[in-house]
Amino acid sequence: MMTIAIIGGGFSGTMTAVQLMRKASQPLKVILIERNERIAKGVAYGTLCPLHLLNVPAKDMSAFPDDSQHFFKWAKDQDAAVTEATFVPRMRYGAYIEHILNDTLSHKAPNIEFRRLHGEVKNISLVNDGKQGRIELNNGEEVIADRIVLALGNLAPANVRIKNPQFYESKNYVRDSWSKESRPPISADAPILLVGTGLTMIDKALELKLQGHEGTIYALSRHGYLPSVHIPGIVRLPNPFENANLPKTVLELTKYIRAMVKRVEDSREANWRQAVDSIRPVTQQLWKTWNTTERRRFIRHMRCIWDVHRHRIAPEVGAMIDSMIKAGQLKIVAARVVSMEENASGIKVTVSPRGHHKETSFEVNRVINCTGADSNVKTIDEPLVEQLRNQGLLCADTFGLGPTITDTWALIDQQGKASDVVYVVGPLLKGQLWESIAVPELRGQAAQLADHLITSNDRVSLCHSESA
Ligand SMILES: Cc1cc2nc3c(=O)[nH]c(=O)nc-3n(C[C@H](O)[C@H](O)[C@H](O)COP(=O)(O)OP(=O)(O)OC[C@H]3O[C@@H](n4cnc5c(N)ncnc54)[C@H](O)[C@@H]3O)c2cc1C
Repeated sequence: MMTIAIIGGGFSGTMTAVQLMRKASQPLKVILIERNERIAKGVAYGTLCPLHLLNVPAKDMSAFPDDSQHFFKWAKDQDAAVTEATFVPRMRYGAYIEHILNDTLSHKAPNIEFRRLHGEVKNISLVNDGKQGRIELNNGEEVIADRIVLALGNLAPANVRIKNPQFYESKNYVRDSWSKESRPPISADAPILLVGTGLTMIDKALELKLQGHEGTIYALSRHGYLPSVHIPGIVRLPNPFENANLPKTVLELTKYIRAMVKRVEDSREANWRQAVDSIRPVTQQLWKTWNTTERRRFIRHMRCIWDVHRHRIAPEVGAMIDSMIKAGQLKIVAARVVSMEENASGIKVTVSPRGHHKETSFEVNRVINCTGADSNVKTIDEPLVEQLRNQGLLCADTFGLGPTITDTWALIDQQGKASDVVYVVGPLLKGQLWESIAVPELRGQAAQLADHLITSNDRVSLCHSESA
């Protein structure tokens, strides 16, 4: 019986396990390993804050690529008020994935085994001439698997570069805004700095508001751009490249999008949101066809603009953030952090504002890193990634977006050899696919990887039966 171990029980890992158990026709053992107590939630859907809403409407959040209404129907069964355009609380989405896993387990075939392990994987090594992997957990447990899937997801953000990095030892600095690690309490009127102005900052600002925080919240990034807001119920535009060649350069793509936005807005047929969304089905293809120079150009000049237009927030969330800004509680700062120094009264933050040469300073009592997940496997200090890197089993892609992998998402080691054992799924595929963060892409990855692993299982079973 083939054993497939999946490390990471967030959306990607759980749905890979679900797809494996639903698709397998040969005996199979699936082991799902998660360091947090609960599986199926991950960073995004493990939140307990009711103000954290999905940033994708219900109609687009099915966990199955071949059943687009699956989530919407489930959510409507739970709450009749849900429509296709509703932005459902993220914790309810976590309950949906948990429901799918439980449902799969209660209907699985008798020759499919499932085991859940609670613990952090610290070490993976290849054994049996590199045909299997040994997985070691921090609680002393060990597992031998024929295939290992790294579904590590959203890893803690990197510290931003400042003059005095020793500040990062401070108890008043929170590097991972998603971690549940407790901190010394601060008063409700204390000023706080959120580094980053994207989706993580939005989450944190709302959470602070709900906790009754009244002090000033500074949110800072180089450009100071905030995510755009969805307009509910808008119609979809068809993929503009259905019967046309894809733009070969970033400049060509930019011109194309600008012209499309002008055309649809002039004709009042649609707005820029639909124009940006219409490219989504080909974003991965575009990224794959661009050479290194074009990819570098995109990252340097377009990434920031792309992110704020592509990753949008629910209208209700937009309205809450807007009112916090209008009330003067949330202050958006376009600047680069130069240094952060802790003293007896608080933390002196010195910044270089965008477009000015003169540095300025302000004081806060806590700094929370909201710059989003780090995926640079070359520098990241995540123990498992460090261990894989040190063993030479993993190396970083050109842009530090993830590990180098094959077209079927097997790890490529530092000698350039593709692994027969270790595979990757989820946001760490960003280097190869660029668009590899949200459910509409990840559900397809889980199904695709399961198909690939099952085909290799079938081949192994066939060889065994022929030689028997
Ligand atoms: C705050 C936030 C909100 C989001 N909102 C949306 C949304 O509304 N809609 C949408 O489509 N997408 C959203 N996303 C995108 C999100 O990345 C995906 O939807 C999806 O949740 C990613 O799942 P994942 O399993 O790949 O990663 P994760 O959810 O990060 O799960 C990875 C899991 O691996 C575990 N793990 C890591 N290393 C180890 C180890 N060594 N040993 C054991 N366990 C380990 C972690 O504990 C974690 O539970 C959001 C992302 C974030 C961060």
